[in-house]
Amino acid sequence: MRAYHANKRREAARKASIWRRREHRKAQEQKRAMCAVALILGLLLPLGLGIAMPNGNAEHAYATQPQSDRQCEALCGWPVLDPRIEREFEKPAKRWLSGHRGIDLTAQAGTVIVAPQAGIIRFAGKVAEKDVVSMRHSNGVISTFEPATTTLTVGAAVTQGQFIGTVGGASDHCTGQCLHWGLKRGEDDYLDPQRYAGNQKIVLKPL
Ligand SMILES: [Zn+2]
Repeated sequence: MRAYHANKRREAARKASIWRRREHRKAQEQKRAMCAVALILGLLLPLGLGIAMPNGNAEHAYATQPQSDRQCEALCGWPVLDPRIEREFEKPAKRWLSGHRGIDLTAQAGTVIVAPQAGIIRFAGKVAEKDVVSMRHSNGVISTFEPATTTLTVGAAVTQGQFIGTVGGASDHCTGQCLHWGLKRGEDDYLDPQRYAGNQKIVLKPL
């Protein structure tokens, strides 16, 4: 009788072991299937994005990115080739309070600035001794760059990714060399350019 029970227990243990192995195999297969789907998506996604890039803008491909944010539809580029943020946007709590009405991008004097979106040159000159270039985009949003100079004249139309000026001149935004990029809708609705310029990988400089 004892032997009978021992056999029963062994049999039950064997069945449980087979069941566990089967479940494990099933889980492994599911995992492999998920990985395959992820891999296929990973391969297809960049292809799709490549196709989505506007023709004739390939040389400034960096100025275009996936349009996941509806607000980003009309303004989806960075003004410099290798954007690294030195100081982030800090929206003032009140209109009259201080903050940082834009972002500061690492940029040496002479760095080329390109239009983050199509528009027209709105201003080029000095504001409070600072060298400023600003442009009005077709959606009415205004980009302001400083320190920046341009040879383009006010009213000149530029397309996205087109050269609009170079970094240089006077500014109090960085101790080193940088480009301040401000983005404004209306009179004083300051926007975070980083949100509008897409999801390209940005490295924040250590403080
Ligand atoms: Zn700044």
